[in-house]
Amino acid sequence: MSKISPRYLRKIYERLFAKYGPQSWWPAKTRFEVIVGAILTQNTSWTNVEKAIANLHKAHLLSPAALKNIPVDNLSQLIKPAGYFNVKARRLKNFIEFFFKEYNGQLERMSKAPLQKLRRGLLSVNGIGPETADSILLYALDKPVFVVDAYTKRILSRHRLMDEATDYHAVQKEFMQSLPQDTRMFNEYHALIVRLGKELCKSKPWCDLCPLNDIHYSIDYKCFCCRKPLPRPHERYVLNNALSPKRYFCKECWKKKGSRIGKLKI
Ligand code: SF4
Repeated sequence: MSKISPRYLRKIYERLFAKYGPQSWWPAKTRFEVIVGAILTQNTSWTNVEKAIANLHKAHLLSPAALKNIPVDNLSQLIKPAGYFNVKARRLKNFIEFFFKEYNGQLERMSKAPLQKLRRGLLSVNGIGPETADSILLYALDKPVFVVDAYTKRILSRHRLMDEATDYHAVQKEFMQSLPQDTRMFNEYHALIVRLGKELCKSKPWCDLCPLNDIHYSIDYKCFCCRKPLPRPHERYVLNNALSPKRYFCKECWKKKGSRIGKLKI
């Protein structure tokens, strides 16, 4: 992956913040609830997670000690709305086992541990991957880490700032090296990306309404010849022919064909 200009990452943040404002994440009453939610939200929508959390709340299970004591089969029944409930019940239990073994079930103690040690520990828990671990670090423990998700990759790749298949840690490194190590900003940035992904940058994107529609490449404008997405407006080559609608070209195709097919306006 080529290096993304820090300017773009800052600009994306500023535009999203200007449009949506503070998102006040994570939607939870306690830090422990954030951890439970981060594990339950894997491969499901937040609405389903909320139902599972409401069940746990009703059963007075939203505490480390209560989750430690409940048998895994009972737990899986309560979190059924979150989907993959047997797997997720096991994952919650794995986390609880780690939490008591390493930090005696105390969040205060856990939050004082150095970031890298915490991250390694969380990733060693069966069922906790990088996105879940980083969500716990950022939203439950206030550590300055950037959370990457499918929306992050989709948005950056649609603007040709990276390839969608880029590895999680490579994307995270770009953000963390380009932005100040600011927990508050990382918190808002990820939440804003999720909001944009849910509202506008869906599988069929609504670019017309999007505050990012002129950032770097736009998928709205494709080269008339090679169909690749084109750069920002001032770098697009436009065929200004009175007899046909405007046609846009990339630099390479313009060089090859443009001069033969009409007048150029940039
Ligand atoms: S401009 Fe279009 S592709 Fe880019 S983030 Fe917005 S909706 Fe997605």
